[in-house]
Amino acid sequence: MADTVNHEDKSDNPDEVPAGMPASGENACRHCGGSGKIGTDPCPECNGTGIVVTPIGGAG
Ligand SMILES: [Zn+2]
Repeated sequence: MADTVNHEDKSDNPDEVPAGMPASGENACRHCGGSGKIGTDPCPECNGTGIVVTPIGGAG
């Protein structure tokens, strides 16, 4: 019986949650300051959107 499930998410942003979560909202990416870019490169945290989906009411 294969009972191995990988719950590890290698995301670099611990605040990020999957889209569609009920208690979540869009926030300016703290990694790039909402600009969507790190220097001349697209921000890897928000994929260049400047927006990340984070939980509402969480610590922080
Ligand atoms: Zn970003």
